[in-house]
Amino acid sequence: MKATKAKNFLFKMLANQNVSVPTAMHLFNALITPILFYASEVILPLAIPNIKESKLYKLFEGLKLEKCHVKFCKFILGVPSRATNAAVKGELGAFPLAVKMYVHALKFLNRLQVMENESLVFKSFRDSVALDLPWYKSCCNMIKLATPSIELPVALGKLNTLYGCIKAKLQDVYVKTWYETINRKPSAQRNGNIQGNKLRIYNKFKSDFKIEHYLKCVGDKHTRSEICKLRISAHDPMIERLRYVPNKPDADKRYCKYCPALPDTEFHFLLECDKHKDHRKIMLDKVQDIFPQFDSLQDGSKFIKLMQCDDSEMALIVGQFIKDSVKDRKASRVS
Ligand SMILES: [Zn+2]
Repeated sequence: MKATKAKNFLFKMLANQNVSVPTAMHLFNALITPILFYASEVILPLAIPNIKESKLYKLFEGLKLEKCHVKFCKFILGVPSRATNAAVKGELGAFPLAVKMYVHALKFLNRLQVMENESLVFKSFRDSVALDLPWYKSCCNMIKLATPSIELPVALGKLNTLYGCIKAKLQDVYVKTWYETINRKPSAQRNGNIQGNKLRIYNKFKSDFKIEHYLKCVGDKHTRSEICKLRISAHDPMIERLRYVPNKPDADKRYCKYCPALPDTEFHFLLECDKHKDHRKIMLDKVQDIFPQFDSLQDGSKFIKLMQCDDSEMALIVGQFIKDSVKDRKASRVS
């Protein structure tokens, strides 16, 4: 509750400011994370008993405090709440808070281990070890998961030297599952529709779990937001808009309002749609100046190059095209 209040306060504070993404994430970590971490050294081990490597991603993403973190990530990226969490985390290279909290809990365990023998807290801890109580049992499971090549008694004895490798192991497991998530094959039919992977475009140009260059180099938050929404398929084209209507058409039948025979995909929006040909000409001329070899690329490679936005100038040019084109679409919907 306190964290939600603090988060909402931070939302209000940042809403009218053009704060950079790294600064905003830093503010979250400095102001909100400590509140979310209150008593987490006790709560987390109890919340993840019998933790297994295969369940780690889901468990970490499912924690209540992570929902607060994800909301903030979406707010700072300027994307709708329905945006896919895996893509949002991928854009920011943001690990779930539980990674840090996991290490935090084991640091607490280590502090208990080295306490004065006669202290009340130590006696209580010694009893929980002797009785193998749930909190201690779960801490041991957490250590075994994160340091599988070290015998538990040895790991317990040198816990203070293992925090770095525990964190690295958790991050490795998380990134592996994240990568599998964004590359998931379309699943079986449901209600007559093939359940495609919403990130089937995203995984063509995103493979590293790290903060994207455009989020650091584009100063205007509106431009960053427009680039991000198109990259993670949370944008204006019908491929996304018709995803949420009753009896939604299959992906290849979500046609463009301006080019009725063509599905309105991210590719169509960026490189084909007749509605945006003037803005596109300006964009492609500028891109050609920066990358003289651009014109010789196949259409698929052009699309990926534009979507990558891994160059400061390129990000600004693509961002301007998206802003102008979306503005045109919105204006035509009103008129
Ligand atoms: Zn079109």
